[in-house]
Amino acid sequence: MSIKCTNCQKGITTLKFSEATVITSGKYRVPAVLVTLVCPHCSQHYYVEVPAMEFIPCEAKQ
Ligand SMILES: [Zn+2]
Repeated sequence: MSIKCTNCQKGITTLKFSEATVITSGKYRVPAVLVTLVCPHCSQHYYVEVPAMEFIPCEAKQ
């Protein structure tokens, strides 16, 4: 499973992590986490606002 980078058109299976900042979402008007991820091929940055309620506790990934 992969997605295509809209900048370089290459397939992405793993994005590089850049930043995750807690904000008040302008879109949803609730506490949210602004996540910034980076294309591993061309360094195009992408962001998404994830409402805090969407987060589910999980075990640490190895
Ligand atoms: Zn790219």
